[in-house]
Amino acid sequence: MNTVAARLQFILNELRLPTVKRLWTALAEQSNKEGWPAERFLVSVMEHELAERDTRRLERHRLESLLLPGKLLSNFDFTAVPTLSKAHVTALSQGDGWIEQGSNLLLFGPPGVGKSHLVCAIGNGLIDHGYRVCFTRTSDLVQRLQVARHEMRLTAEIARLDRFDLLILDDLSYVRRDQAETSVLFELIAGRYERRSLALTANQPFSGWDQVFPDVAMTLAAVDRLVHHSTIFELNTESYRRRVAARGGVSKAKSVGILDPDDPVISTPVPGDHNEVGEDATAPGNSGGARGDAAVPLRSTAASPRAKEQTKATSKAKPTPRSTVIN
Ligand code: ADP
Ligand code: MG
Repeated sequence: MNTVAARLQFILNELRLPTVKRLWTALAEQSNKEGWPAERFLVSVMEHELAERDTRRLERHRLESLLLPGKLLSNFDFTAVPTLSKAHVTALSQGDGWIEQGSNLLLFGPPGVGKSHLVCAIGNGLIDHGYRVCFTRTSDLVQRLQVARHEMRLTAEIARLDRFDLLILDDLSYVRRDQAETSVLFELIAGRYERRSLALTANQPFSGWDQVFPDVAMTLAAVDRLVHHSTIFELNTESYRRRVAARGGVSKAKSVGILDPDDPVISTPVPGDHNEVGEDATAPGNSGGARGDAAVPLRSTAASPRAKEQTKATSKAKPTPRSTVIN
């Protein structure tokens, strides 16, 4: 290696330009052979570096997001939820302003209707558009925040989550009773209000939430902040899993690729999805969502004009299957 090349290797290491380092000799050879002007050679090596940097950043963002793998808009069957607007969902997955405004996305519906799939698909689209997303089960996050609170670093932990443009809290309804002693979830919601977006899935809209927060006042305050700037999808269709099972059994579903290999339906016949892991079908407020009835609004939201407005709109939509979009 001549001295210029050796010096260049050193400089490219120092400047952390691995792609230029890997490609410059081949591009220099081509440039010399074809008589490129110097600026064309420079632009060419730098464009390669830029493109690889973008790819690496997207890979990093996808990895850190912990989104459920394979849940994309391209394999979401919109015909299964006829009232859901594909155009609206696609716009959300591209950002479309709501992320910059710190607006929220709330998805309600009984188990198996595709809430997690849909919210992950939107998350994946957002990552493609340069946003940072983090998916977590709500109970896992509550546990993590509780530990942080005990160690007197709750504020710092919530601030750390600010790096994500969208934080997805899956299955709010499954937060365990003994976790409900805490207000950490409220602190998170209040901390991100009008600044950073939250997406949330739950079995029922608002009615059972008084079990998730320590008291009614805090439940109201949380709901109020969540719905103030929000899009709400109510997916009150039949469970997709159950429908697939009924349509032709497991082997057909597998052969057309609509079921996950680890989906419980593959090893177990599905009599009904009401009692999914952690769900207490007898719990007050749980039956409405799980059976696909109209939304049961939280009675005392009347105290708040913001929540009142949203709740009214939600409870007006009657027919099932349906999906209500409030923006
Ligand atoms: P939920 O979160 O509402 O309980 P999931 O999103 O976990 O439901 O959906 C259950 C399974 O059914 C997942 O494997 C999911 O990919 C699939 N599924 C649900 N709805 C659809 C749909 N409309 N199109 C394609 N797959 C779907
Ligand atoms: Mg789910």
